[in-house]
Amino acid sequence: MATFQAPKGTYDLIPPVSVKYLAVREAIAAPLRNSGYGYIETPGFEDVGLFARGVGESTDIVSKEMYAFETKGGDQLALRPEGTASVLRAALEASLHKKGNLPVKLWYSGSYYRYEKPQAGRYRHFSQVGAEAIGAEDPALDAELIILADQAYRSLGLRNFRILLNSLGDKECRPVYREALQSFLSGLDLDEETVRRAEINPLRVLDDKRRDVQKQLVGAPMLRDYLCDACKAYHEEVRALVTAAGVVFEDDEKLVRGLDYYTRTTFEFVHDGLGSQSAVGGGGRYDGLSEMIGGPALPSVGWALGVDRTVLALEAEGVDLDIPASTSVFAVALGEEARRVLFGKVTELRRAGVAADFSYGGKGLKGSMKDANRSGARFTVVAGERDLAEGVVQLKDMESGEQAPVALADLVATVQARLA
Ligand code: AMP
Repeated sequence: MATFQAPKGTYDLIPPVSVKYLAVREAIAAPLRNSGYGYIETPGFEDVGLFARGVGESTDIVSKEMYAFETKGGDQLALRPEGTASVLRAALEASLHKKGNLPVKLWYSGSYYRYEKPQAGRYRHFSQVGAEAIGAEDPALDAELIILADQAYRSLGLRNFRILLNSLGDKECRPVYREALQSFLSGLDLDEETVRRAEINPLRVLDDKRRDVQKQLVGAPMLRDYLCDACKAYHEEVRALVTAAGVVFEDDEKLVRGLDYYTRTTFEFVHDGLGSQSAVGGGGRYDGLSEMIGGPALPSVGWALGVDRTVLALEAEGVDLDIPASTSVFAVALGEEARRVLFGKVTELRRAGVAADFSYGGKGLKGSMKDANRSGARFTVVAGERDLAEGVVQLKDMESGEQAPVALADLVATVQARLA
Protein backbone atom coordinates (compact mmCIF):
# COMPACT_ATOMS: atom_id res chain seq x y z
CA MET A 1 0.00 0.00 0.00
CA ALA A 2 1.24 3.49 -0.76
CA THR A 3 2.57 5.39 2.21
CA PHE A 4 1.87 9.03 2.92
CA GLN A 5 4.27 11.94 2.95
CA ALA A 6 4.10 15.44 4.37
CA PRO A 7 2.46 17.69 1.75
CA LYS A 8 4.72 19.63 -0.60
CA GLY A 9 6.28 22.66 1.02
CA THR A 10 5.81 21.33 4.55
CA TYR A 11 8.02 19.36 6.88
CA ASP A 12 7.74 17.63 10.22
CA LEU A 13 9.50 18.77 13.34
CA ILE A 14 10.92 15.69 14.96
CA PRO A 15 13.36 15.04 17.82
CA PRO A 16 16.13 15.89 18.35
CA VAL A 17 15.84 18.93 16.03
CA SER A 18 12.37 19.89 17.26
CA VAL A 19 13.78 21.11 20.61
CA LYS A 20 15.50 23.89 18.70
CA TYR A 21 12.13 25.18 17.52
CA LEU A 22 10.78 25.16 21.04
CA ALA A 23 13.89 26.99 22.23
CA VAL A 24 13.58 29.62 19.49
CA ARG A 25 9.90 30.22 20.24
CA GLU A 26 10.69 30.49 23.93
CA ALA A 27 13.62 32.87 23.34
CA ILE A 28 11.45 35.18 21.24
CA ALA A 29 8.58 35.05 23.71
CA ALA A 30 10.68 35.68 26.85
CA PRO A 31 11.47 39.38 26.27
CA LEU A 32 7.82 40.01 25.28
CA ARG A 33 6.44 38.41 28.44
CA ASN A 34 8.93 40.54 30.30
CA SER A 35 7.66 43.74 28.68
CA GLY A 36 3.94 43.72 29.33
CA TYR A 37 2.75 41.68 26.33
CA GLY A 38 -0.13 39.28 27.05
CA TYR A 39 -0.52 35.99 25.20
CA ILE A 40 -3.23 35.71 22.55
CA GLU A 41 -4.32 32.76 20.42
CA THR A 42 -6.67 33.09 17.47
CA PRO A 43 -8.15 30.48 15.09
CA GLY A 44 -6.06 28.97 12.30
CA PHE A 45 -8.64 30.20 9.78
CA GLU A 46 -10.67 33.37 9.40
CA ASP A 47 -13.22 34.95 7.11
CA VAL A 48 -11.35 35.38 3.83
CA GLY A 49 -12.48 39.00 3.70
CA LEU A 50 -10.42 39.86 6.77
CA PHE A 51 -7.20 39.14 4.90
CA ALA A 52 -8.43 40.54 1.59
CA ARG A 53 -9.24 43.84 3.25
CA GLY A 54 -6.55 43.82 5.91
CA VAL A 55 -3.48 42.48 4.14
CA GLY A 56 -4.53 43.88 0.76
CA GLU A 57 -6.00 42.53 -2.48
CA SER A 58 -2.94 43.54 -4.48
CA THR A 59 -0.43 41.63 -2.37
CA ASP A 60 0.96 38.27 -3.45
CA ILE A 61 -0.06 36.93 -0.07
CA VAL A 62 -3.75 37.49 -0.80
CA SER A 63 -3.90 37.26 -4.58
CA LYS A 64 -1.70 34.19 -5.10
CA GLU A 65 -0.76 32.52 -1.87
CA MET A 66 -3.87 32.22 0.24
CA TYR A 67 -5.43 28.88 1.07
CA ALA A 68 -9.00 30.03 0.61
CA PHE A 69 -11.95 27.64 0.62
CA GLU A 70 -15.68 27.40 0.98
CA THR A 71 -17.00 25.30 3.84
CA LYS A 72 -19.87 22.85 3.52
CA GLY A 73 -21.99 25.53 5.18
CA GLY A 74 -21.06 28.05 2.48
CA ASP A 75 -18.66 30.21 4.55
CA GLN A 76 -15.71 31.70 2.69
CA LEU A 77 -12.67 31.08 4.86
CA ALA A 78 -8.91 31.14 4.51
CA LEU A 79 -6.08 29.57 6.45
CA ARG A 80 -4.31 32.47 8.08
CA PRO A 81 -1.36 33.70 6.01
CA GLU A 82 -0.16 36.07 8.74
CA GLY A 83 -1.02 37.07 12.29
CA THR A 84 -1.66 40.79 12.53
CA ALA A 85 -5.11 41.01 10.94
CA SER A 86 -6.40 38.14 13.12
CA VAL A 87 -4.98 39.62 16.32
CA LEU A 88 -6.49 43.01 15.61
CA ARG A 89 -9.81 41.39 14.70
CA ALA A 90 -9.79 39.50 18.01
CA ALA A 91 -8.84 42.59 20.01
CA LEU A 92 -11.69 44.56 18.41
CA GLU A 93 -14.16 41.72 18.89
CA ALA A 94 -13.29 41.49 22.60
CA SER A 95 -13.33 45.31 22.87
CA LEU A 96 -9.90 45.21 24.46
CA HIS A 97 -9.36 48.73 23.18
CA LYS A 98 -12.36 50.00 25.17
CA LYS A 99 -11.12 48.77 28.49
CA GLY A 100 -9.18 51.94 29.10
CA ASN A 101 -5.60 50.86 28.97
CA LEU A 102 -4.15 51.53 25.56
CA PRO A 103 -1.90 50.33 24.13
CA VAL A 104 -3.09 46.74 24.23
CA LYS A 105 0.12 44.72 23.98
CA LEU A 106 -0.24 41.14 22.75
CA TRP A 107 2.07 38.35 21.63
CA TYR A 108 1.32 35.14 19.77
CA SER A 109 2.94 32.03 18.40
CA GLY A 110 1.59 29.75 15.74
CA SER A 111 1.43 28.25 12.27
CA TYR A 112 0.81 30.26 9.10
CA TYR A 113 0.01 29.10 5.58
CA ARG A 114 1.00 30.49 2.20
CA TYR A 115 0.79 28.72 -1.12
CA GLU A 116 4.32 29.70 -2.13
CA LYS A 117 6.85 28.04 -4.37
CA PRO A 118 8.77 25.97 -1.84
CA GLN A 119 12.52 26.40 -1.48
CA ALA A 120 15.04 26.49 1.35
CA GLY A 121 13.58 28.83 3.97
CA ARG A 122 10.25 29.20 2.17
CA TYR A 123 7.50 26.81 3.08
CA ARG A 124 3.76 26.50 2.70
CA HIS A 125 3.35 25.93 6.39
CA PHE A 126 5.66 27.89 8.67
CA SER A 127 5.80 29.19 12.15
CA GLN A 128 6.01 32.70 13.57
CA VAL A 129 6.13 34.38 16.92
CA GLY A 130 4.64 37.85 16.76
CA ALA A 131 3.90 40.91 18.85
CA GLU A 132 1.41 43.73 18.41
CA ALA A 133 1.04 46.98 20.36
CA ILE A 134 -2.43 48.25 19.54
CA GLY A 135 -3.92 51.69 20.00
CA ALA A 136 -1.09 54.14 20.60
CA GLU A 137 0.94 56.40 18.39
CA ASP A 138 4.20 56.58 20.27
CA PRO A 139 7.66 56.21 18.74
CA ALA A 140 8.81 54.52 21.94
CA LEU A 141 6.53 51.59 21.09
CA ASP A 142 8.08 51.19 17.64
CA ALA A 143 11.51 51.37 19.28
CA GLU A 144 10.51 48.91 22.00
CA LEU A 145 9.53 46.28 19.46
CA ILE A 146 12.73 46.65 17.45
CA ILE A 147 14.82 46.48 20.62
CA LEU A 148 12.95 43.39 21.88
CA ALA A 149 13.43 41.51 18.62
CA ASP A 150 17.12 42.37 18.70
CA GLN A 151 17.27 41.13 22.30
CA ALA A 152 15.52 37.88 21.33
CA TYR A 153 17.91 37.14 18.47
CA ARG A 154 20.94 38.00 20.59
CA SER A 155 19.77 35.83 23.48
CA LEU A 156 19.85 32.91 21.04
CA GLY A 157 23.43 33.73 20.12
CA LEU A 158 22.60 35.09 16.67
CA ARG A 159 25.02 37.79 15.51
CA ASN A 160 25.05 38.14 11.71
CA PHE A 161 21.67 39.75 11.29
CA ARG A 162 20.98 43.30 10.21
CA ILE A 163 18.05 45.56 10.95
CA LEU A 164 16.71 47.56 8.00
CA LEU A 165 14.57 50.57 8.87
CA ASN A 166 12.37 52.88 6.82
CA SER A 167 9.35 55.13 7.09
CA LEU A 168 6.45 54.76 4.66
CA GLY A 169 4.80 58.05 5.57
CA ASP A 170 1.15 58.48 6.56
CA LYS A 171 -2.16 59.38 4.97
CA GLU A 172 -1.00 62.97 4.55
CA CYS A 173 2.25 62.52 2.69
CA ARG A 174 2.03 59.07 1.16
CA PRO A 175 -0.67 59.92 -1.40
CA VAL A 176 1.46 62.79 -2.70
CA TYR A 177 4.44 60.50 -3.03
CA ARG A 178 2.31 57.76 -4.51
CA GLU A 179 1.21 60.03 -7.29
CA ALA A 180 4.77 61.15 -8.03
CA LEU A 181 5.94 57.53 -8.10
CA GLN A 182 3.04 56.45 -10.29
CA SER A 183 3.81 59.14 -12.79
CA PHE A 184 7.47 58.02 -12.83
CA LEU A 185 6.49 54.35 -13.23
CA SER A 186 4.11 55.10 -16.10
CA GLY A 187 7.14 56.10 -18.18
CA LEU A 188 8.86 52.73 -17.74
CA ASP A 189 8.80 49.59 -19.82
CA LEU A 190 7.08 47.14 -17.45
CA ASP A 191 5.18 43.90 -17.97
CA GLU A 192 1.42 43.85 -17.66
CA GLU A 193 1.30 42.48 -14.12
CA THR A 194 3.75 45.10 -12.87
CA VAL A 195 1.78 47.85 -14.55
CA ARG A 196 -1.29 46.62 -12.70
CA ARG A 197 0.64 46.54 -9.45
CA ALA A 198 1.84 50.08 -10.09
CA GLU A 199 -1.79 51.14 -10.30
CA ILE A 200 -2.90 49.43 -7.10
CA ASN A 201 0.17 49.76 -4.92
CA PRO A 202 3.08 51.48 -6.69
CA LEU A 203 5.36 51.31 -3.63
CA ARG A 204 5.55 47.57 -4.04
CA VAL A 205 7.13 47.95 -7.45
CA LEU A 206 10.18 49.39 -5.66
CA ASP A 207 10.47 46.04 -3.92
CA ASP A 208 10.67 44.13 -7.23
CA LYS A 209 13.80 42.01 -7.08
CA ARG A 210 14.22 41.58 -10.88
CA ARG A 211 17.34 43.20 -12.30
CA ASP A 212 15.69 44.72 -15.37
CA VAL A 213 13.06 46.34 -13.16
CA GLN A 214 15.63 47.57 -10.63
CA LYS A 215 17.68 49.09 -13.46
CA GLN A 216 14.73 51.16 -14.57
CA LEU A 217 14.03 52.30 -11.03
CA VAL A 218 17.23 54.31 -10.81
CA GLY A 219 16.19 57.93 -10.31
CA ALA A 220 12.72 57.04 -9.02
CA PRO A 221 11.33 59.57 -6.54
CA MET A 222 12.10 58.44 -2.98
CA LEU A 223 9.58 58.60 -0.16
CA ARG A 224 12.16 60.13 2.15
CA ASP A 225 11.95 63.34 0.13
CA TYR A 226 8.16 63.46 0.49
CA LEU A 227 7.72 62.70 4.20
CA CYS A 228 5.64 65.32 5.98
CA ASP A 229 7.11 67.05 9.05
CA ALA A 230 5.12 64.91 11.47
CA CYS A 231 6.35 61.67 9.85
CA LYS A 232 9.91 62.95 9.74
CA ALA A 233 9.88 63.90 13.41
CA TYR A 234 8.28 60.58 14.34
CA HIS A 235 10.87 58.63 12.41
CA GLU A 236 13.76 60.60 13.88
CA GLU A 237 12.49 59.83 17.37
CA VAL A 238 12.26 56.09 16.62
CA ARG A 239 15.80 56.17 15.24
CA ALA A 240 17.10 58.08 18.27
CA LEU A 241 15.50 55.71 20.79
CA VAL A 242 16.76 52.59 19.02
CA THR A 243 20.24 54.09 18.74
CA ALA A 244 20.25 55.08 22.42
CA ALA A 245 19.55 51.42 23.26
CA GLY A 246 22.74 50.46 21.46
CA VAL A 247 20.86 48.66 18.69
CA VAL A 248 22.47 49.15 15.30
CA PHE A 249 20.28 49.49 12.19
CA GLU A 250 20.61 50.54 8.57
CA ASP A 251 18.36 53.08 6.90
CA ASP A 252 16.84 51.39 3.85
CA GLU A 253 14.70 53.79 1.87
CA LYS A 254 13.58 51.05 -0.49
CA LEU A 255 12.12 48.83 2.20
CA VAL A 256 8.36 48.55 1.61
CA ARG A 257 7.42 44.94 2.54
CA GLY A 258 4.73 42.78 1.01
CA LEU A 259 1.70 43.80 3.04
CA ASP A 260 -0.43 46.84 2.29
CA TYR A 261 -1.28 47.90 5.80
CA TYR A 262 2.01 49.47 6.83
CA THR A 263 2.37 53.20 7.55
CA ARG A 264 5.34 55.12 8.92
CA THR A 265 7.85 52.80 10.62
CA THR A 266 8.72 49.62 8.71
CA PHE A 267 11.59 47.32 9.47
CA GLU A 268 12.99 43.99 8.53
CA PHE A 269 15.53 41.68 10.13
CA VAL A 270 17.72 40.05 7.52
CA HIS A 271 20.34 37.37 7.94
CA ASP A 272 23.23 37.21 5.54
CA GLY A 273 23.72 33.45 5.76
CA LEU A 274 20.36 32.48 4.28
CA GLY A 275 20.61 33.13 0.55
CA SER A 276 17.57 34.58 -1.18
CA GLN A 277 15.12 34.03 1.70
CA SER A 278 17.10 36.32 3.95
CA ALA A 279 14.30 37.94 5.99
CA VAL A 280 14.12 36.33 9.41
CA GLY A 281 11.50 38.77 10.64
CA GLY A 282 9.75 41.99 9.90
CA GLY A 283 7.12 44.43 10.94
CA GLY A 284 6.08 47.99 11.31
CA ARG A 285 3.34 50.46 12.08
CA TYR A 286 -0.14 49.91 10.70
CA ASP A 287 -2.13 52.95 11.76
CA GLY A 288 -4.92 52.43 9.24
CA LEU A 289 -5.55 48.70 9.56
CA SER A 290 -8.21 48.87 12.27
CA GLU A 291 -10.36 51.18 10.14
CA MET A 292 -9.74 49.00 7.08
CA ILE A 293 -11.37 46.07 8.89
CA GLY A 294 -14.26 48.11 10.27
CA GLY A 295 -12.87 49.25 13.63
CA PRO A 296 -12.14 52.68 15.08
CA ALA A 297 -8.85 54.49 14.48
CA LEU A 298 -6.26 52.51 16.42
CA PRO A 299 -2.68 53.34 15.49
CA SER A 300 -0.63 50.23 16.13
CA VAL A 301 2.75 48.62 15.55
CA GLY A 302 3.95 45.03 15.50
CA TRP A 303 6.28 42.41 14.14
CA ALA A 304 6.44 38.73 13.30
CA LEU A 305 9.63 36.71 13.47
CA GLY A 306 9.91 33.51 11.46
CA VAL A 307 10.82 30.52 13.60
CA ASP A 308 11.87 28.28 10.69
CA ARG A 309 14.28 30.84 9.27
CA THR A 310 15.63 31.72 12.71
CA VAL A 311 16.57 28.06 13.15
CA LEU A 312 18.22 28.12 9.70
CA ALA A 313 20.09 31.30 10.65
CA LEU A 314 21.37 29.66 13.83
CA GLU A 315 22.58 26.71 11.78
CA ALA A 316 24.21 29.04 9.24
CA GLU A 317 26.13 30.73 12.06
CA GLY A 318 27.02 27.41 13.65
CA VAL A 319 25.32 28.38 16.91
CA ASP A 320 24.69 25.37 19.12
CA LEU A 321 21.81 26.14 21.45
CA ASP A 322 22.64 25.07 24.95
CA ILE A 323 19.68 22.76 25.44
CA PRO A 324 20.03 20.50 28.49
CA ALA A 325 19.10 16.81 28.13
CA SER A 326 15.44 16.43 28.94
CA THR A 327 15.93 13.33 31.10
CA SER A 328 17.88 13.45 34.38
CA VAL A 329 17.35 9.88 35.57
CA PHE A 330 16.95 6.72 33.52
CA ALA A 331 15.75 3.60 35.35
CA VAL A 332 16.77 0.08 34.32
CA ALA A 333 14.97 -2.79 36.02
CA LEU A 334 16.20 -6.38 35.88
CA GLY A 335 13.32 -8.78 36.55
CA GLU A 336 9.61 -8.46 37.20
CA GLU A 337 9.72 -7.38 40.84
CA ALA A 338 12.40 -4.75 40.13
CA ARG A 339 10.29 -3.51 37.26
CA ARG A 340 7.34 -2.84 39.51
CA VAL A 341 9.41 -1.17 42.20
CA LEU A 342 11.47 1.00 39.82
CA PHE A 343 8.44 2.03 37.81
CA GLY A 344 7.02 3.32 41.11
CA LYS A 345 10.25 5.19 41.80
CA VAL A 346 10.17 6.81 38.37
CA THR A 347 6.64 8.04 39.09
CA GLU A 348 7.83 9.37 42.46
CA LEU A 349 10.80 11.15 40.85
CA ARG A 350 8.56 12.75 38.25
CA ARG A 351 6.11 13.94 40.88
CA ALA A 352 9.07 15.47 42.73
CA GLY A 353 9.91 17.41 39.57
CA VAL A 354 12.85 15.27 38.43
CA ALA A 355 12.78 14.37 34.71
CA ALA A 356 12.87 10.59 34.66
CA ASP A 357 12.40 7.84 32.11
CA PHE A 358 12.21 4.07 32.22
CA SER A 359 13.52 1.22 30.15
CA TYR A 360 10.40 -0.14 28.49
CA GLY A 361 9.91 -3.15 26.33
CA GLY A 362 11.53 -5.86 28.47
CA LYS A 363 15.08 -5.38 27.16
CA GLY A 364 18.06 -6.97 28.82
CA LEU A 365 20.76 -5.06 30.69
CA LYS A 366 22.79 -4.28 27.57
CA GLY A 367 19.90 -2.92 25.52
CA SER A 368 18.60 -0.96 28.48
CA MET A 369 21.99 0.65 29.12
CA LYS A 370 22.07 1.71 25.49
CA ASP A 371 18.73 3.42 26.00
CA ALA A 372 20.10 5.06 29.13
CA ASN A 373 23.06 6.44 27.16
CA ARG A 374 20.87 7.66 24.37
CA SER A 375 18.58 9.49 26.78
CA GLY A 376 21.45 11.74 27.85
CA ALA A 377 20.40 11.23 31.50
CA ARG A 378 22.87 12.29 34.15
CA PHE A 379 22.04 9.26 36.36
CA THR A 380 21.06 5.70 35.68
CA VAL A 381 19.31 3.71 38.37
CA VAL A 382 19.75 -0.06 38.03
CA ALA A 383 18.11 -2.65 40.26
CA GLY A 384 17.77 -6.43 40.20
CA GLU A 385 16.29 -8.94 42.65
CA ARG A 386 19.43 -8.97 44.79
CA ASP A 387 19.51 -5.17 45.16
CA LEU A 388 15.89 -5.13 46.17
CA ALA A 389 16.46 -7.86 48.73
CA GLU A 390 19.00 -5.50 50.30
CA GLY A 391 16.65 -2.52 49.99
CA VAL A 392 18.93 -0.65 47.59
CA VAL A 393 19.29 0.42 43.95
CA GLN A 394 22.55 1.10 42.10
CA LEU A 395 22.92 4.76 41.25
CA LYS A 396 25.35 5.37 38.41
CA ASP A 397 26.67 8.84 37.61
CA MET A 398 26.90 8.78 33.82
CA GLU A 399 29.39 11.68 33.80
CA SER A 400 31.99 10.21 36.16
CA GLY A 401 31.06 6.57 35.63
CA GLU A 402 30.94 6.03 39.41
CA GLN A 403 28.33 3.68 40.77
CA ALA A 404 27.18 3.16 44.36
CA PRO A 405 24.20 1.61 46.15
CA VAL A 406 21.58 3.97 47.54
CA ALA A 407 18.80 2.97 49.90
CA LEU A 408 15.55 2.70 47.99
CA ALA A 409 13.85 5.04 50.46
CA ASP A 410 16.53 7.71 49.95
CA LEU A 411 16.64 7.60 46.15
CA VAL A 412 14.50 10.66 45.38
CA ALA A 413 16.20 12.88 47.97
CA THR A 414 19.68 11.68 46.93
CA VAL A 415 19.05 12.37 43.24
CA GLN A 416 17.56 15.77 44.02
CA ALA A 417 20.56 16.71 46.15
CA ARG A 418 23.07 15.60 43.56
CA LEU A 419 21.29 17.37 40.69
CA ALA A 420 21.02 20.64 42.63
P1 AMP B 1 5.88 38.51 6.68
O1 AMP B 1 4.58 38.30 7.35
O2 AMP B 1 5.88 38.16 5.23
O3 AMP B 1 6.50 39.82 6.99
O4 AMP B 1 6.86 37.43 7.33
C1 AMP B 1 7.46 37.58 8.58
C2 AMP B 1 8.49 36.50 8.72
O5 AMP B 1 7.88 35.22 8.64
C3 AMP B 1 9.54 36.50 7.62
O6 AMP B 1 10.58 37.38 7.91
C4 AMP B 1 9.99 35.07 7.60
O7 AMP B 1 10.96 34.83 8.61
C5 AMP B 1 8.74 34.31 7.97
N1 AMP B 1 8.09 33.78 6.76
C6 AMP B 1 7.22 34.40 5.94
N2 AMP B 1 6.83 33.59 4.94
C7 AMP B 1 7.48 32.42 5.12
C8 AMP B 1 7.49 31.17 4.43
N3 AMP B 1 6.75 30.96 3.35
N4 AMP B 1 8.29 30.18 4.91
C9 AMP B 1 9.04 30.38 6.01
N5 AMP B 1 9.04 31.52 6.71
C10 AMP B 1 8.28 32.53 6.28
